[in-house]
Amino acid sequence: MDSELEVIEKNATLEINSCVSAGELDTIYLKYFSKTHGIITNLLKKLPSFTIEEKKTFGPKANQVQSDLKALIEKKRNLLINEQLQDPMIDMTYPLPAENAGYMHPINQVIEQMNSFFRYYGFSIGEGPEIETAEYNFRKLNLPEGHPATDLQDTLFINEPDLLLRTHTSSIESRILTDYEPPIRVVVPGKVYRNETASATNLAFFHQYQGFVVDKGITIQHLKGTLEAFHKFLFGNDVILRFRYKYYPEVSPGMGTDIQCTFCKGAGCTVCKFRGWIEVLGSGMIHYNTLKMCGIDPEVYSGFAFGMGLDRLVMNKFAIDDIRKLYGGGLIYI
Ligand SMILES: [Zn+2]
Repeated sequence: MDSELEVIEKNATLEINSCVSAGELDTIYLKYFSKTHGIITNLLKKLPSFTIEEKKTFGPKANQVQSDLKALIEKKRNLLINEQLQDPMIDMTYPLPAENAGYMHPINQVIEQMNSFFRYYGFSIGEGPEIETAEYNFRKLNLPEGHPATDLQDTLFINEPDLLLRTHTSSIESRILTDYEPPIRVVVPGKVYRNETASATNLAFFHQYQGFVVDKGITIQHLKGTLEAFHKFLFGNDVILRFRYKYYPEVSPGMGTDIQCTFCKGAGCTVCKFRGWIEVLGSGMIHYNTLKMCGIDPEVYSGFAFGMGLDRLVMNKFAIDDIRKLYGGGLIYI
């Protein structure tokens, strides 16, 4: 037994001394001291079967070899670390590579979430040009020339009066309704432009999210059901909704959707400007004239549309107090 221990000690010492990396040392440590298959561990497990005499002589020796080898491994480990540090190719003052701090913009995160919701319900994701004609941006949406919503003050024209930066994502709606046959089920996230002076709450561009459905037999109940499911997805199952009549030229009837203020539960606070409700989106049944001007027979088909601004929603969600921060370089959230 003693000679076996001597052989083990000799071999282990040789192996430890010839190690060139900390990884190799770890392997050797496990080879001899692993709880399940370590050579010395296994040897010590035999101790109970020895006679008292054998235990007296072998026990202390085995323990000594064990602690000597462990000390040798540690010594060798320190030596390897020191050798590494002295390598002229290693510059300890060299700065670490910058950590990857990138993440998806909060607006895009919300768009992605909304897209995944609507994809689940069978909607396609649509897109369209940001430079748009007055035809698609106004006329086909039941906004004839001279309509207050086409006010030149609000619109950024590229080539007045026909070419402009789209003022709403409804322009994509009129394009898709013109280009495709029903049934149509599409959502369109997009950037829109208005002739606004930049401030903490307004910018000359912002984001909208629009959805529309056209098919035979679509009613306002479909719209309400869709909006209810969507708001529960956005704000949680206990959200309280309020639908109320509101005028939008491209729909009839038009319907505004409010949620009960989640901060004051309707009692009134600064967030809801003491109204108890917060307006989230505008919606309605697509106007007879809109369908007709887009080449869809309004006697056969009907449809609904809804649209919302994304910037304020994102600002609330991420507690961003100034819209300009959304588009600056220093947007950081935790
Ligand atoms: Zn409130």
